[in-house]
Amino acid sequence: VSQDHRHPLPLERPPQASALAQSHRAAVSETLDRLARAPARPRAMQPFDDLFRGDWRWEELRGAPRPVVGSLCNFVPEELVLAAGAIPLRVDLSQAAAAQAGGRVLPADVCPVVKAMVGAHLLELPALAACDLLVIPTACDGKRKLVRLLGEEREGWRLELPADKSVRSRSRWRDEVTRLAGRLEQLTGKRLARRALREAVTLVGRRTELVRRVNQLRQEHASALGGSDALLWLQASFIADARWWVARTEALLEELNARVTGEEQARPEDGRLRLLLTGSPILFPDLRLLHLIEEPGRAVVVADDLCSGTERLYHPTTVDEWTAPGLVRAAADRTLLPCTCPCFVGVDDRIDRLLALCREARVSGVIHHTLRLCQPYDLDQARVSAALKRAGIPVLHLYLEPGTEDTAMLQNRIEAFLEMLAQ
Ligand code: SF4
Ligand code: SF4
Repeated sequence: VSQDHRHPLPLERPPQASALAQSHRAAVSETLDRLARAPARPRAMQPFDDLFRGDWRWEELRGAPRPVVGSLCNFVPEELVLAAGAIPLRVDLSQAAAAQAGGRVLPADVCPVVKAMVGAHLLELPALAACDLLVIPTACDGKRKLVRLLGEEREGWRLELPADKSVRSRSRWRDEVTRLAGRLEQLTGKRLARRALREAVTLVGRRTELVRRVNQLRQEHASALGGSDALLWLQASFIADARWWVARTEALLEELNARVTGEEQARPEDGRLRLLLTGSPILFPDLRLLHLIEEPGRAVVVADDLCSGTERLYHPTTVDEWTAPGLVRAAADRTLLPCTCPCFVGVDDRIDRLLALCREARVSGVIHHTLRLCQPYDLDQARVSAALKRAGIPVLHLYLEPGTEDTAMLQNRIEAFLEMLAQ
């Protein structure tokens, strides 16, 4: 817990805070309106739109009798938060107005996610404002500093990440997660009992099962669900109640299954180029890259390995021992061992996963997205590109920054890449 606040940074609301907060809300509406205009969009996407568009979830959280545990990244095992009787919330954000607000107190050359998180605090955006405890893994320098920047007005908890996944690191990570489990018990006053842990592991496992089934359909039938809708649906799990999300996803899966029977089953390809998206997190409401790729109708994202997408919910909790300590260890292992985040020294796991996904999803090419100034992805990019090229998979590398006037240039580069793939 960060307790050393002898030299606080005056994080005052910027004078134009209400205009920026308004512009953030406008960006949310614009993204949702754009998605809603897509032809033949599944009706079952509507509840996910409503979740982001309305204030009802924030009101629900404000009135909740249970504490809200916010986190960045995917390293906080949600099984533990749920079993302790708290509400998990993933609060990562990347958006122009929030980054602009954060840019008032941070230097220009800081990654947009870090700036947007400080901006979310200054603009009092609801996800961050809802958190009683904010858990931040030390995944990169920016995230490490956010523990202090965001932890002055709420309790910030630093989750120390190992640099690799060696046996020694794994044991240290299990200790780190057990330490967090102790704090969650204190926060809620509820012991992490075996039964509650088992129920939480089952609920989180159901999410994984559903993600795998929907993604399987996306891979088999490109028309089943577009990449932008898939990202919205997956990111709804950041803020939604887990049971609510499972029920809405079951309805979505049912509709998608019904769609791909009959005519579409006989003709699973819809003529568009199939792409895989990898790289820095793409975070709602800034889905600009997905709009640029999919809206012209020539390509569809059928797979991704984004931490803000499939990777978040893809890996199951593998339990060896159904005791309370065994379940905590299994949850810790789930968040470390299969994780392909570039914060680790090695990149081989990520490359292996990418190559396997490319094969499974039969993609024509890969788009590698790097948020400007996101060093972990930038540093790995050459090795990832080389591995993809060796496997004969074309890759387009794009740098993006929210709020930058580079849409026409990005559109041209994507069009040229699709043209090359088509030939
Ligand atoms: S890529 Fe890694 S460090 Fe960056 S947001 Fe995702 S999980 Fe966190
Ligand atoms: S991993 Fe990249 S995008 Fe995420 S906070 Fe760190 S530098 Fe920013």
